[in-house]
Amino acid sequence: MKLEIIGTNSAFAKDGPTTSLMVWDNDGKGILLDCGYPIFQYLGKLGYLDKIKAVLLSHTHQDHCGSAVTLAEYAFQVLGRPLMIGGVKWDKLLKLCDGDDYPEKVRLTDGSFIVESWEVPHAKGMECRALLVNDKVLFSGDTAVSLLNTPQAEKARIIIHGAHLKGTPNLVAVSKLGDAPAEIRTKTWLIHYLPANYEQMAAAAQKYGLAGVVRPGMVFDDL
Ligand SMILES: [Zn+2]
Repeated sequence: MKLEIIGTNSAFAKDGPTTSLMVWDNDGKGILLDCGYPIFQYLGKLGYLDKIKAVLLSHTHQDHCGSAVTLAEYAFQVLGRPLMIGGVKWDKLLKLCDGDDYPEKVRLTDGSFIVESWEVPHAKGMECRALLVNDKVLFSGDTAVSLLNTPQAEKARIIIHGAHLKGTPNLVAVSKLGDAPAEIRTKTWLIHYLPANYEQMAAAAQKYGLAGVVRPGMVFDDL
């Protein structure tokens, strides 16, 4: 299993891919965690559109889910198969997904991935979930609190955590991640930022003892 960073942008970036990860199985196919509005085209350029087994969404802000309908339509109309979309409740908008309720754990029918999800605070009135893939990759789409003090963070081999330089009511400040034990912080990478803020994010990651800041195209092997 390996992790590839497809995009890292937060909302309102004028160019580049929004926060999105691909977790690859050993068979050359994978699951996509979040897929904001430009991600369909990036996946097309990368040649990944027919390699997605399922899409898991952390929440329904457009910078995290804006390509989901197009991906499902593409799978159904071009590839001739339905695409499973899980994570948050999506069934009212999209009829192509696999079932209409999403349990705490989503299992792919071929047994390749088990994704645990649980609710985290983010925007008022919006369901938002953290995702843990095969007990190895912990991904926070957006969250107002640190997830580094959870049992899932302890289990994970790598943590991809959204955070804000200063913090907002909806997004946890990078400094809060600094409260976690060193063994958790050193496997934690920041995501979800404006490209112009990369250097500041990298400096903050270093200040608080985190592993770093991910960029599009980064790959983490042998998870
Ligand atoms: Zn959000």
